[in-house]
Amino acid sequence: MSRRILVTGGAGFLGSHLCTRLVQAGHDVLCVDNYCTGRRSNIAHLQGLPNFEVMRHDVTFALYVEVDEIYNLACPASPVHYQADPVQTTKASVHGAINMLGLAKRTGAKILQASTSEIYGEPLQHPQTESYWGNVNPIGPRSCYDEGKRCAETLFFDYFRQHQLRIRVVRIFNTYGPGMHPQDGRVVSNFIVQALLGNPITIYGEGSQTRSFCFVDDLISGLLRMMGAPDDVTGPINLGNPTEVTVLDLAEIILRLTGSRSAIVRRPLPENDPTQRRPDITRARALLDWEPSIQLEEGLAKTIAYFETQLSRPALANA
Ligand code: NAD
Ligand code: UDP
Repeated sequence: MSRRILVTGGAGFLGSHLCTRLVQAGHDVLCVDNYCTGRRSNIAHLQGLPNFEVMRHDVTFALYVEVDEIYNLACPASPVHYQADPVQTTKASVHGAINMLGLAKRTGAKILQASTSEIYGEPLQHPQTESYWGNVNPIGPRSCYDEGKRCAETLFFDYFRQHQLRIRVVRIFNTYGPGMHPQDGRVVSNFIVQALLGNPITIYGEGSQTRSFCFVDDLISGLLRMMGAPDDVTGPINLGNPTEVTVLDLAEIILRLTGSRSAIVRRPLPENDPTQRRPDITRARALLDWEPSIQLEEGLAKTIAYFETQLSRPALANA
């Protein structure tokens, strides 16, 4: 049955993929975005469709619309962008959560929060299970994002306990794929763009830190499964691909897949950069019957093909 669905941050990387899947499924989709990191071009293919609408709006301000479901994705996700205006980043998570939860309370809508593996901080437990409380610096350069997202989770569970809202909280681990901005600043897009342009591949630190990369199509399927789950499945639930690689491994795979001769250069490791990250997805498997199906090299090949088309466009070639 067709539903009225709000996607905040809908013009961003994940949001635009989610809007596309929801529109294709026949739902009435309202995309809300302030374009701080999102782009109109991400949703250009949906503009003009009868079941798609866009509203320029900042979620730190109240929003009055009538909807059945809310996917709350509005927040810059790349460390470079979320650290550029840290106060606004915390506001996007915390004020944004309060406003969207208020909207869910008034309308009775189900609401899903895009939380993050960053809530585990520098994890002392590996891989990370949802029962782990994390190890987060509250006053460092990443704190605006990590603590903002942690507070948003607190708000979701307080609205659940206090107001019986129908909540869903997913903790998303590093996700990549077509649609990322060439200047997004995250590792996969940086390395692919650098490799394709023949520029040096910038490894921060020794490159021994690990991440586990999930292809965007898998992640979006997980979000849809979570929204469709019974109301007692509140989460938090990890969504990510458990295949773990070092940053140096990732650089070497991308060099091989692109056939690039770019040199590898070292840059200083950013403060509080987590040393390891791998999701335990036992809960997602059991409660959502979900697990990623696209392996890293397959996903990277699709992403490289996307960036090749982007970089052949003159306006972006200097990225
Ligand atoms: P993104 O930066 O591409 O998208 C974020 C979108 O939110 C952008 O379109 C941006 O313009 C919009 N936005 C930001 N602040 C806003 C505000 N105050 N009001 C309205 N819109 C606002 O990032 P993404 O990778 O698509 O991430 C989407 C969500 O998923 C974020 O909440 C992020 O924290 C979460 N997440 C993503 C990943 C990942 O690897 N991609 C991992 C963990 C969590
Ligand atoms: N990184 C890197 N070179 C880059 C960008 C990132 O070595 O050009 C590293 C970064 O230090 C981190 C990992 O890649 O250890 C993932 O960084 P990203 O910004 O993608 O996301 P994070 O998981 O840190 O939020």
